[in-house]
Amino acid sequence: MDNKIIDGKAVSEQIKKEIAAEVADMIDHGIAAPHLAAVIVGEDGASKTYVASKEKACHSVGMTSSVYRLPESTTEKEMLDMVEFLNNDSEIDGYIIQLPLPKHIDENKVINAIKPSKDVDGFTSVNAGRMQLGHPCFIPATPNGIMELIKRSGVETVGKNVVVLGRSNIVGTPMSILMSRKGIDATVTMCHSRTKNLPEIARQADILIAAIGKQGFVTADMVKPGAVVIDVGIHRIEDASSPKGYKIMGDVDYDEVYKVASKITPVPGGVGPMTIVSLLQNTLKAAKGEVYPK
Ligand code: NAP
Repeated sequence: MDNKIIDGKAVSEQIKKEIAAEVADMIDHGIAAPHLAAVIVGEDGASKTYVASKEKACHSVGMTSSVYRLPESTTEKEMLDMVEFLNNDSEIDGYIIQLPLPKHIDENKVINAIKPSKDVDGFTSVNAGRMQLGHPCFIPATPNGIMELIKRSGVETVGKNVVVLGRSNIVGTPMSILMSRKGIDATVTMCHSRTKNLPEIARQADILIAAIGKQGFVTADMVKPGAVVIDVGIHRIEDASSPKGYKIMGDVDYDEVYKVASKITPVPGGVGPMTIVSLLQNTLKAAKGEVYPK
């Protein structure tokens, strides 16, 4: 692959090898393989695909996975009972609740019932608060994966201007916090739907991170020549010429932005595979008691 492309797939394969070696070592020492559980409610196609790929990734590194599939009609009380069951099951090291949940269930209430030591998605208030303070915690998978990708691709961050497009709790906000931390030392601007002069701000970025959920939003005129561009967006676009009938595209107009950027993540094959591998890293940490003592 040309060296302008930040190859998330290759980096994630390397990390998977490292995780697999650690898991094999645990098993050799008579320690149970890390166990990740997932709860999926209803029949959402994208959620099913995500859970299936997380399950596959677990198996590829020798971890145990289990999936709890609940019907769309599941009540909030039943969800909270499920969370309590998973909190108390000593064989499960970490688990995720695949979002979104059906509208009649209060997502915040369910997420915050997860025991922080098993919250490998890093979505509870406890882990989010600890992340902000720089205390040991589980960092949400996508921002964590991007940080790992930036480090392993040799992208310089100290003193650089970073512009994050998007302020969601799972991507934009944690991304901004992580990039401004001591040791990373970037100067961060976070943009959202009420930002004025967004293209002008984006053009100041040495590192531009797009997480807004609008396909092809970032065009070449919004990118400073030589900038590093990280595309978080995932959009399934109908495409009759592809065997699957669709193709996956990002928040960045890849073909045009490629011409001006010094480095860029492709979609697919950029941030996506790093997200899954980060979840595996968090599960390994949970099993080893590295974040919260066992
Ligand atoms: P989200 O919760 O919908 O948040 C989108 C953010 O973008 C919001 O902060 C919103 O601003 C801002 N925004 C929307 N339209 C805008 C505009 N025209 N100008 C400026 N800002 C705008 O999305 P998300 O969960 O962060 O996800 C973002 C994208 O990443 C989606 O495509 C999602 O599928 C993808 N994603 C990928 C991965 C992965 O593994 N690669 C993981 C998670 C998400 P307001 O706050 O003002 O509304």
